[in-house]
Amino acid sequence: MIDEQKYRAALDTEKALLEKELSSLGAANEDGDTIVQKPRGDEFGPDRNVNSDVIEDMNENNAAARELTGRLTAVRNALKKIGEGGYGHCEVCGKEIEEDRLRANPAAPTCKEHMG
Ligand SMILES: [Zn+2]
Repeated sequence: MIDEQKYRAALDTEKALLEKELSSLGAANEDGDTIVQKPRGDEFGPDRNVNSDVIEDMNENNAAARELTGRLTAVRNALKKIGEGGYGHCEVCGKEIEEDRLRANPAAPTCKEHMG
């Protein structure tokens, strides 16, 4: 039997953390969608090295935001399943996900056999 309440607490904590990180990147709206940053134009000057740094920073920021958004989506899905039922069951085979896998990643959507 899966202890949903224990994992719910862990998921809530991770969700709050991810939302905080995303908002510090200035990259998420309230639904957690990533807003991809684009140059406004006024960042750029005559120095090409400076300009490519601006683009590079923005790309790094966007990549980080996408990664965080992906994790946040998994956490939200897991919390939804705790509310609606089906939490802790593999999305591929339907079996209970191993306890040690859930401890390592409470948002895991699949059992070890069907991970990644
Ligand atoms: Zn499975």
